[in-house]
Amino acid sequence: MNVPTPPVTVPQADPGASYRALKASIDAAVARVLESGWYILGRECAAFEEAFARWQGAARAIGVANGTDALALILRGLGIGPGSAVATVSHTAVATVAAIEMIGATPVLIDIDPATYTMDPAELEAVLRDPPAGLPPIRAVIPVHLYGQPAAIAEIIAIADRHGASVIEDCAQCHGATVGNRKAGTLGRAAAFSLYPTKNLGALGDGGVLTTDDTALADRIAALRQYGWKERYISDLAGVNSRLDEVQAAILAVKLAHLDAANARRQAIAARYDAALAGTGFSPPARRPGTTHVFHQYVIRCADRAGVQAQFRARGIGTNVHYPMPVHAQPAYRGRVALGPAACRETERAAAEVLSLPMFPELTDAQVDQVCAAIRALG
Ligand SMILES: *Cc1c(COP(=O)(O)O)cnc(C)c1O
Repeated sequence: MNVPTPPVTVPQADPGASYRALKASIDAAVARVLESGWYILGRECAAFEEAFARWQGAARAIGVANGTDALALILRGLGIGPGSAVATVSHTAVATVAAIEMIGATPVLIDIDPATYTMDPAELEAVLRDPPAGLPPIRAVIPVHLYGQPAAIAEIIAIADRHGASVIEDCAQCHGATVGNRKAGTLGRAAAFSLYPTKNLGALGDGGVLTTDDTALADRIAALRQYGWKERYISDLAGVNSRLDEVQAAILAVKLAHLDAANARRQAIAARYDAALAGTGFSPPARRPGTTHVFHQYVIRCADRAGVQAQFRARGIGTNVHYPMPVHAQPAYRGRVALGPAACRETERAAAEVLSLPMFPELTDAQVDQVCAAIRALG
């Protein structure tokens, strides 16, 4: 006999909640843009770029259409394309690898450190020293600050520097995370942020932004995002169309002012989950010393993931898996992307075991209590 499944009362993510929380300011911002008659690359985008650069502590920020394009435009701006390889990880959103292929470069995928789910610097060093046979020169490294946790960025930069490769930080999940007294994303050559609705800073549609302290690179990318124009209708470089529209920029400016508070709320929810996990057979996520984790996702590992998901679901709690299949194992990439000597073994283990609990700033205390009770019941 089937037990009826209760409705989901605690979703894993809820992008609509972030709109409802700021509805009056967002509606006013949208109305202002609609009435302005100017919808692409105007004063709203410029204002958001300036505010984001200031908040991030970077010299320049450039708004683009999405996070994938932000990565691809940085690579293009650095002159990386066909005939180059780029090292990244396989335990990431497929977008990281898609961006490398978009510009015609060859991805090489490094395994992760299983505690932090981020690039293993030792294997990166081994691959840079002794690259897989037939691989073009590795010109860039893209560590991913996954789930809101900074990668071993100082170590990765030191290794990449020794081998003449540029470091581009994939900050799609780490808006606001810090490394020492700096924001993640300010240590490498440039950083790419997704502004997808569920990200720590999310638009109400697609959006992306990239930051760099290299103003010549920023100028090149600002041209590349709009057909390579320096002057209207005259392409100086062969570019693309990847612009952040005025409506999204205005919404993002409203949400940026609340980002630090939203991250603090994510951290407070994470602390509640940590406490509930004490005494169960499950471990809270590791935190890298000297960094802050901004909990884009709160991820635990379970040998019986399907069983654990079912127990949460029976209590009306949604969970998700980020990500169920490593990029190198997906049909589009299988047998076609280069791996390092570790053959992504830890990545494959993680993909089979990771589970993301409900995590977004608008979770109510009662919803967090409900998740904590379910955690304790796991035993
Ligand atoms: C979301 C995400 C991206 C891509 O962002 P889009 O805005 O969806 O193109 C890239 N990398 C990581 C790690 C992401 O989570």
